[in-house]
Amino acid sequence: MHSIRFKITAILVAAVLVAGLSVFLVGSFTIQAENDRESVKTMNLMAHDTQLSLEDYTGDIEQSVELIGYLASDTLDSVELVRGGVVGTSAESGQRTPEQVERLDSYLSEYCENILEVASVAGAYTPGIVTYYFCISPNISTTEHGFFYSRVGKTGFAEREPLDARELDPNDKEHTTWYYTPIERGRPSWVGPYTAHFLDEMLISSYLVPIYRSGTLIGVLGMDIPVETLVEQVSTVKVYDTGFACLLDSEGHILYHPEKEPGSMLDLEVSQDIFQQENNGDALIRYVSNGEERQLSFTTLSNGMKLAIVAPTSEINASTAALGRNVLPLTALIIAVFAVLSLLAMRLITTPLVRLTAASQRLAAKDYDVELDYTSKDEVGALTDSFKQMRDQLKQDIEELNRKVLTDDLTGLPNQRHFFQLAQEEKTRLTEEGKHPVAIFFNLVGMKHFNRQYGFDEGDQLIRELAGILASTFGEQCVARFGQDHFAAIADEEHVEELVASVFEQGLRANNGVNLPISAGIYRFSMEDVSIGVAWDHAKFAGDQRNGIYESGFSYFDADMLKQVENMRYVINHFDQALEENWIVVHYQPIVRAINGHVCDEEALSRWIDPTRGTLHPDDFIPALEEAGLIYKLDLHVVDSVLEKIKLQGESGLTIVPHSINLSRSDFEVCDIVEEIRSRVDAAGIKRDMISIEITESIIGSDFDFMKEQIERFQGLGFPVWMDDFGSGYSSLDVLEDIKFDLIKFDMSFTKKIGESEEGRIVLTELMRMTTALGVDTICEGVETPRQSRFLQEIGCSKLQGFLYCQPISLEGIIERYESGTQIGYENPEESEYFAALGKANLYDLAIIAKEDAGEGEGLLQNTFSTVPMCIMEVNGAEVSFVRTNQSYREFANRYLGFDLSERTTGFEAYPVGRGAPFMEVVRECCESGSRTFFEEELADGSVARSFVRRIRTNPVTGATAVVVAILSIAAPPQ
Ligand code: C2E
Ligand code: MG
Ligand code: MG
Repeated sequence: MHSIRFKITAILVAAVLVAGLSVFLVGSFTIQAENDRESVKTMNLMAHDTQLSLEDYTGDIEQSVELIGYLASDTLDSVELVRGGVVGTSAESGQRTPEQVERLDSYLSEYCENILEVASVAGAYTPGIVTYYFCISPNISTTEHGFFYSRVGKTGFAEREPLDARELDPNDKEHTTWYYTPIERGRPSWVGPYTAHFLDEMLISSYLVPIYRSGTLIGVLGMDIPVETLVEQVSTVKVYDTGFACLLDSEGHILYHPEKEPGSMLDLEVSQDIFQQENNGDALIRYVSNGEERQLSFTTLSNGMKLAIVAPTSEINASTAALGRNVLPLTALIIAVFAVLSLLAMRLITTPLVRLTAASQRLAAKDYDVELDYTSKDEVGALTDSFKQMRDQLKQDIEELNRKVLTDDLTGLPNQRHFFQLAQEEKTRLTEEGKHPVAIFFNLVGMKHFNRQYGFDEGDQLIRELAGILASTFGEQCVARFGQDHFAAIADEEHVEELVASVFEQGLRANNGVNLPISAGIYRFSMEDVSIGVAWDHAKFAGDQRNGIYESGFSYFDADMLKQVENMRYVINHFDQALEENWIVVHYQPIVRAINGHVCDEEALSRWIDPTRGTLHPDDFIPALEEAGLIYKLDLHVVDSVLEKIKLQGESGLTIVPHSINLSRSDFEVCDIVEEIRSRVDAAGIKRDMISIEITESIIGSDFDFMKEQIERFQGLGFPVWMDDFGSGYSSLDVLEDIKFDLIKFDMSFTKKIGESEEGRIVLTELMRMTTALGVDTICEGVETPRQSRFLQEIGCSKLQGFLYCQPISLEGIIERYESGTQIGYENPEESEYFAALGKANLYDLAIIAKEDAGEGEGLLQNTFSTVPMCIMEVNGAEVSFVRTNQSYREFANRYLGFDLSERTTGFEAYPVGRGAPFMEVVRECCESGSRTFFEEELADGSVARSFVRRIRTNPVTGATAVVVAILSIAAPPQ
């Protein structure tokens, strides 16, 4: 990549060179053209000058000849000519008398003498001539021929035999042209050059004047000059250094040329026709001769010859060339200077740009403090300002981003990622100082509950306050918020307990006393030098062991926990293998109907049968799978197994009851579990209400709305949804109001408490009353004793689950029990609704509890009961059975009817109720008509019982009808 400076430099240099070259070429061309024009002018001028000097010479001859001619014409006596018969009438007849001839000859002789006198003088004074002569026309005289003188020596002339014109043959052009040419032209003319054989073959040129009188040619006067004389003059002409003049005849034949033979032609590249013109005018004639370019100008002398000036072009252009030689370096110098100036100017302009570029690169390399000092108000200045603004904005954004990336929004403490870096540094520092670093994990106890109770704003405030406490206790760079109410800190082991205690102590006063206990987990790096992430996982794990303890405290991560953690790791690492190799099997625990003791539901519970570790219970692997977000695979595997079991049971003709499956929170986060289950159940062709969904309270957690929506989706599709482990956590009864569960499963801690305390029974009774009032079915899990079972029946719990009935067993186990006849027996699903209705009636009263506890039978009943004795009876034809009884009714039956119902939990055995007894009549009547009836009956001791009977429902399978009977009062027998 070329820099902008390089590009501008290249463009500038190219522009300067092109401009310079263009100026140079155009200049050269113009100069050349001008030079050519000038050279033509100069050459023309030289030709003209030479012509003038030559014509000075020929002019003398012309003057002399014309002077003689003038004299000859002037002195010619017309009278004599008339008399001589050459002009006038006689001449026209052409006949001349001898007298006329003689007279004219004599006149002409005299006349010629006179002319000769003048001619001799003129001849002597006319330089260069070689002859002067007068040739009388033969038409005028046959005897008088005129005169003819030719030069002798340097100065003298000798008379020679005048030429007899009669001897001149008009056809002999070469020798007679001198005579005929002026006659033909009728005016003075130059003739020649031609070779004069009468002058030793000298090449001459003649100037001739024809003499006329009255239209009659008298003769021709002339002078000759040798061409040699002109050539001498021409040869002295010097043009430039080696240029020359040459003389050509009118046809262009060379008369004189320093390099060429006379008679030859110039080797011009232009047509020789050019010599037909007077001169070359403005035409530039160039040609190459002897390998040299030459330029030629010519002009026509008055004698018809062409005078040509020739000079080598190089000499003509020498000055221009010299100019060029001078101009070229000057131009180059100007270009160079201009280029340097341009470069400097460009440098001036681009330097800030270059700096800006460098600054941008530094900015790109994250130097947000890069400075630029360019302040001019030009475009670059504006660019610089924009750059600075951009830099500042970027710096601000990056700082903001860093702050966001590195710190927690709510508390301003370092976030987890940032803290891990800081913690690594702090750990190294502590180790180098010989100290023992520890990782501490803090957690507020019951945050969700707090949020529900006080709202999220108050929750946030509490979290901020805890952040402040931690920062001031451990130092801002040694603490972090990991999200939610989770905090981390790093400290030296020696002081950690002191610091943690201080946090707990400050925590008590936080948020004006509206706060929560703080739980802490501590991991010592001295235990094993694990990575930072693992250290805080361990610390959290240690802290989590305190779950359920509602007070501040801490625990160290120990070897046991390490084992658990390792177990979790084992679970995650082997989960896929476990699924593939069927290590995970589903066990089923029956849920029995309280009223009839038959299995009405089954809960699917996972077991991990590990080839090396033996059977793992859900607590060993479910938390790990939940944390790893893998539990959905397990749960869908359970769904598949359950569907398979139902199909199998169906195929074997066994009764099928609904099955419940357990879901975890992460099932809802990792996939659309609702849709996953629906598609599987539908694909198996099994009715949706055969699969109940168990959801623990803790799953609903903070994202209440989301979970409500999911539960409603399940219900909308036809899946019953149960709340599992109700009351195990910080349950809020609001949940029951907001979400309409189909069933509530009470945590087994409630069942445990039945036999432990009155409070436990009261709470459970009230909760049961409430859920019954809400119209929701109930299950109590963990039922292990008949007492628990009886109590739960009395308070209206519709279904029971626990080891009293059956432990969770595999499908093979179920089949085995069937085979061995030890199965509990399934409820006929068609009777389910009937029994459900019977189960919901609450026959229990709190007052009884106190009495029951005080000791059975003591002062319980005299004439009245502190609670209403109630029972549910089933009437099937003549058979009457007590389906459910409460404690008061059992007492009543024992005392007044002599029945012992105390050992029964459920029962369908018929009791011997006497036919015709008014009580039984009323009951039968009620069964048939369904009317509510109050009636009185005399008892064995004479007292009168006042009772109420109401029909509940008829069993669609057996045809038996259930009624509820309440003994309202017993009147003592009259004394
Ligand atoms: P849960 O849903 O409350 O299941 C009842 C647990 O109580 C089962 O423990 C069962 O074996 C036990 N149990 C039943 N009757 C009695 C009894 O009379 N006395 C005592 N002491 N215990 C009884 P398990 O099978 O160990 O399951 C523990 C928890 O693990 C389950 O509690 C359930 O929340 C979860 N879980 C079990 N299987 C799965 C599963 O496949 N998926 C999911 N997500 N959770 C499961
Ligand atoms: Mg469950
Ligand atoms: Mg449970």
